[in-house]
Amino acid sequence: MEVTEQRTYTAVIGLEFHVHLATRTKMFCGCRVAYGDPPNTHTCPVCLGHPGALPVTNEKAIELGVRAGLALNCDVARRSVFARKNYFYPDLPKGYQISQYDAPICTGGHLDVPVGEETIRVGITRLHLEEDAAKNVHVGTSGRMHGSVGSLVDFNRGGTPLMEIVTEPDIPSPEAARATANHLKEILRAVGVSEADMEKGQLRCDANVSIRNPDGSFGTKTELKNMNSFRFVERGLAAELARQREILEGGGRVTQTTLHYDPETDEVHELRSKEYAHDYRYFPEPDLLPLELTDAWVREVRGSLPELPDQMRARFVEQYSLSPYDAGVLTSDRDLAAYYEAVAAGPVDPKQAANWITVELRARLNEAGMEISEARVSPERIIELIGLVDDGTISRAAAKDVLDRIFTSGESPSAVVEREGLAAMGGDELSGVVDEVLAANPEEAGRVRDGDQKVIGFLIGQVMKATRGGADGGRVRGLILEKLGS
Ligand code: ADP
Ligand code: ZN
Ligand code: MG
Repeated sequence: MEVTEQRTYTAVIGLEFHVHLATRTKMFCGCRVAYGDPPNTHTCPVCLGHPGALPVTNEKAIELGVRAGLALNCDVARRSVFARKNYFYPDLPKGYQISQYDAPICTGGHLDVPVGEETIRVGITRLHLEEDAAKNVHVGTSGRMHGSVGSLVDFNRGGTPLMEIVTEPDIPSPEAARATANHLKEILRAVGVSEADMEKGQLRCDANVSIRNPDGSFGTKTELKNMNSFRFVERGLAAELARQREILEGGGRVTQTTLHYDPETDEVHELRSKEYAHDYRYFPEPDLLPLELTDAWVREVRGSLPELPDQMRARFVEQYSLSPYDAGVLTSDRDLAAYYEAVAAGPVDPKQAANWITVELRARLNEAGMEISEARVSPERIIELIGLVDDGTISRAAAKDVLDRIFTSGESPSAVVEREGLAAMGGDELSGVVDEVLAANPEEAGRVRDGDQKVIGFLIGQVMKATRGGADGGRVRGLILEKLGS
């Protein structure tokens, strides 16, 4: 009998990002970088590729590229070289794109990506600087070339400073690919390199994917081009992995190709391979000198970096004794992190504070579709709210109601408690209710007195019922145990 070995299918994924740098002007000329302006209003002989016009490198773009490289733990080359990447397309008036080829500005970095409760390290192969192409606008109903009646070119985008970041094939799943893209975006925003707004086309992602051979070596990869949402990166990769797996299971071979993912049908389509079969004939750009950076300048850029998300996460774990998960949630957003730190600076338990923010406040923000920066409730109000629970003025349940109110009104929690009569019953009054409940339930009280803790929940429930939820559960439990002397 023939025994067929069960083959495991292990995904291998590497990502390539194109990121617009947050400069005021273009990469090699003084034209403004602008989004949504009328077509062809930000152009000059340089970015229109007129003969004889000479490029001048934008120093700010170099600085931002180096900032990104340092934030991604890369080596910064003291000498890098711009190169011409030659091809013909209507959005490329010079007939070549100025890019970097064999001597990029940054190499050999990594980023540590939280994926669920784990962290994976993804290598950065290289980071280089280049200019973006102009934008082809296809006239017709679909907005795509296919089926359009003609194409126009908007040169406003042509020459926008662009950074390409290439990862090592270290990413093990579509989910991890999405997390990597998100984390990279977070880092780029944190160091002020790019707004990285995908809707404005400031961040685009290509994904390379293959399935490992049975002997562990790399299989043939395919490339999913130009995805403009990380959700589609994850879904597109899942669809492509399923396709590759089916081919392999049928005894076939994957062919190296470039694909487009259609989120509407959840299918991948092959792009006409001729369109991507380039021989770019790279050569060093004769109109620009090699880029030389001094140690002192690189040191200065490094010194100007803010605390990075990874560092902040580690600090939150250390300083506030938070779980890595909570620290990750809080530091995934600069504004949320700042909000948390403002609350934790008050006279509150930092873990409690994290709980109120990551769970209760975020749930209300999500529901309202709001960012933390739009929240009407200030950190001071949250400190006050936690204080009211801590000193037993209100129960935890009542505090959630209070948060509902102050979330929309921004008023003081104490004022709400007073107005709505939400203060927990305390002192003699609560003590009296507990006495009554114990007297009315002698059997259960006796069992608790004999050390049977299981029925205490029942007694607490009776007290809660009698006070109509206006008492703090912890406090009631304490009173019962005190009175029963167990
Ligand atoms: P190419 O020569 O096709 O441009 P590169 O070696 O430059 O390929 O890699 C481009 C991207 O593809 C990188 O992000 C890299 O990590 C990724 N990659 C390389 N080999 C594989 C593979 N076998 N499976 C998945 N991704 C891969
Ligand atoms: Zn210009
Ligand atoms: Mg390559």
